[in-house]
Amino acid sequence: MRKRIVIVGGGTGGTMLANILARKLHREIINNKVELLMISQTAAHYFKPAFMYVAFNAFFKHELMRAQQSLLRPEIKFIVDKAEGVDFQQRRLFTASGNNYDYDFLVFATGCLPWTEKIPGLAEAGDHFYQYQAARRLAGKLATIEKGRIFITVSFPQTPNVPHQCGIAPIETTLMLDEYLRQRGVRNQIEIIYTYPTISQLLRNCLFLQRPTGEALPEIFAARGIKHQRGFTLNQVDAGRRIAYSAEGDEQPFDILMATPPIRAVEMVRNTGLSDIDNGEGWLPTDPQTLQVYDQQGVYVIGDTVDLPISKAGGSCHNQAPVIADNIVAEMQLGHPVRHYDGKVQAVAQFGLSSGMPLVYDYRHDVVPTPATKLGGMLRNGVNRGLYWAAVRGLI
Ligand SMILES: Cc1cc2nc3c(=O)[nH]c(=O)nc-3n(C[C@H](O)[C@H](O)[C@H](O)COP(=O)(O)OP(=O)(O)OC[C@H]3O[C@@H](n4cnc5c(N)ncnc54)[C@H](O)[C@@H]3O)c2cc1C
Repeated sequence: MRKRIVIVGGGTGGTMLANILARKLHREIINNKVELLMISQTAAHYFKPAFMYVAFNAFFKHELMRAQQSLLRPEIKFIVDKAEGVDFQQRRLFTASGNNYDYDFLVFATGCLPWTEKIPGLAEAGDHFYQYQAARRLAGKLATIEKGRIFITVSFPQTPNVPHQCGIAPIETTLMLDEYLRQRGVRNQIEIIYTYPTISQLLRNCLFLQRPTGEALPEIFAARGIKHQRGFTLNQVDAGRRIAYSAEGDEQPFDILMATPPIRAVEMVRNTGLSDIDNGEGWLPTDPQTLQVYDQQGVYVIGDTVDLPISKAGGSCHNQAPVIADNIVAEMQLGHPVRHYDGKVQAVAQFGLSSGMPLVYDYRHDVVPTPATKLGGMLRNGVNRGLYWAAVRGLI
């Protein structure tokens, strides 16, 4: 009987996985032994890291999106629809259009969403760069501020060991902000304060979620006149008075509050009830090695929806996709998964507007920070402007 693989979500992880599976199962698909479906709620694919450049007016909208269909191999059947629920017993997915899809294998690749409403006042008074429209609004403010105080906060999910989106993004944008304001000639009149919460994933009271990078930061910030403060866990914002309050009892005024907001899984994933922590975030309980969802037959998860202690980053998807592809093929052929994910994440961090720092880490090893270089900046530019699209096509 024909087997059906359903991938929900056509972002970074889903697209990489679908293309790798299509290549591995090419013969089975054209011989009608396997059907590979991708169901995603939009026909467009966004290169999400570009949103942080949008905040500095450095990326146009047409440069950061492609038609999803154009990124997929022809063996993949692409359907634009919104997944709304799953019957795990019957192995059936329900969508907003009223269609049902029975599956042999189901992969959640649905990403995560900013959850600004979680902190009172943040949605009204805060800004962020984790979605396109929000980044455009922030860009308007950063392009016109002449003097004052830009206060940077980072909020972690409450689920233990789950990080905020793209670990390095708050640092990248802080350094880009400094250089951007210098280019505008207003840096001397604007104070930048970078803060980090007291409890951040595995470390306490630090400046970053991994110790070696956290220890390198004060010197990097000092060289640029960026102030920093540990132990600021944002828990309320007074939109009228423009004051950010912390759980530790501090209060800080701002002209712009540039936040890394709390995040959560999408509604459909939260509604599965599979998350083992009752805080509304909804991360799927994930086997850190096979990337199966615990206790569910034939169900996998990739990317930002996992509950693992690794960065919610495209560089994680890049290493997870081949593991899931091999495990699904092995389940079909041998009846059990065969490959383990080691937690590897690689990326090139943007340091300022034109330098970059390649980084790599996994479950056992932290990032070893190295000096940012122009060559690193060129590599990052290459990722932004072309390599990303080759990576999601499964070509590199
Ligand atoms: C500002 C910013 C900077 C970043 N910088 C970096 C970086 O420098 N390096 C890096 O590696 N990563 C970076 N990331 C993170 C990276 O973009 C994400 O980790 C990556 O996109 C996650 O892939 P994903 O497949 O899990 O989710 P996504 O890429 O978000 O894709 C989710 C897909 O699921 C679809 N979907 C959601 N719900 C449903 C539903 N109910 N039914 C059907 N479809 C649905 C969505 O429409 C979307 O297509 C950054 C992210 C942001 C926002």
